[in-house]
Order: sequence, then structure tokens, then C-alpha cells
Amino acid sequence: MSKYLSETTTIPQACLGCGYVMDRIGHVMGGRGPQAGDISICIKCGHIMAFTVDLKFRPLTDNEMLSIAGNPELVKIQKTRATVMLMEKLKLEKSKPPE
Ligand SMILES: [Zn+2]
Repeated sequence: MSKYLSETTTIPQACLGCGYVMDRIGHVMGGRGPQAGDISICIKCGHIMAFTVDLKFRPLTDNEMLSIAGNPELVKIQKTRATVMLMEKLKLEKSKPPE
């Protein structure tokens, strides 16, 4: 698998922003798995969180928010995420039977 598209399975947990339950973590910035303090983005709503030592979501600290604000990699990830969600939405609308 590409170093940009590997993933780690975790216990199911809910996004702190929207409640969407996730059980996998995709890594896009390198080959190692997620670690405490790494940033996570909800695929559903784009909420940005960090991992605890046991890979649970926690809110960002003020310093973490300041340090990632405007990060070009995160901006690129957010744009890609938004495109994927839009494509999923359009696919769902296309698959609905006409009313
Ligand atoms: Zn979310």
C-alpha cells in the first residue's frame, strides 16, 4: 500500500464535532501509524482533533490550533475530504429512485 494511503483499525469512536463513528485512521503524511498528539480530521465533517495516548480523540489545545492554522497539508486534505464527501452525496442522490 502507498505510504500516503495506509490505515490503522481502531475501536469505534465518535467525532467530537458531528458524532460520526469511525473505526479506521488513514495516514496521509507518512508510513508510521498514528501516535499521541497527532492530528486527525473527521472524514464526514472535517472537524480537527488530536489523539490521546490510547488513540482516542481529544480536542486540540489552543497551542495546537495555532500551530496548524493555515498548514498547507491540512488545507489540501480538507479540500480532498470535501470533494470526496460531495462525490458521495451526488452518488447517493443518483441512486435514489425518482419520486
Ligand atoms: Zn465529524
